[in-house]
Amino acid sequence: MNMELSRRQFLRVGGAGIAGTTLGALGFGEAEVAHAASIRPYKLAMTKEVRTSCPYCAVCCGMIAFSAKNAQTNKMEVTHIEGDSDHPVNRGTLCPKGAGAIDYVRAKTRVKEPMYRKAGSDKFEPVSWDFAMDRIAKLMKEDRDANFIEKNKDGVTVNRWPTMSFLSGSSCTNETGWITWKVARGLGMLQIENQARI
Ligand code: SF4
Repeated sequence: MNMELSRRQFLRVGGAGIAGTTLGALGFGEAEVAHAASIRPYKLAMTKEVRTSCPYCAVCCGMIAFSAKNAQTNKMEVTHIEGDSDHPVNRGTLCPKGAGAIDYVRAKTRVKEPMYRKAGSDKFEPVSWDFAMDRIAKLMKEDRDANFIEKNKDGVTVNRWPTMSFLSGSSCTNETGWITWKVARGLGMLQIENQARI
């Protein structure tokens, strides 16, 4: 059977295997059983793993977020975050900001939905993603209709939308970057910037 192990799986499986088989080979059968019984289950063995990337700076280090069901709320929640040793950018390392990401995830002040402040209001209120996206699209259309330049003063077609800019994230894939560029340029935007240069 062809079995491929990631670096993380190799370290996890290899560590337990070496400890047990070495004692057995030396004739300490009972000691091996006792030793095996004394080993606590790996604390992340029953969790669900999701690969993600750190959102805090343009380096975009790879992370693995572990989640498990909270017995009191019966809901899944993130229990641990660590660097992804298979990720080509950081090879498992995280700076202090990324290493503390679990605290940000659990923060009571964390914003989990779009916030909207109505004209004349002094406070932001949560709104649905559908509302937020419709609102953004409507404002973009109004601005483009009002400011789009189809031809310059010499009559040359330029199709420019000079009053809008686009900022994209550095954790995007090449494919996302390609589509982002096509959409922004297709609409006539001139100012396109990326988080990686900030
Ligand atoms: S772990 Fe640190 S260096 Fe890596 S992306 Fe997050 S903030 Fe940036």
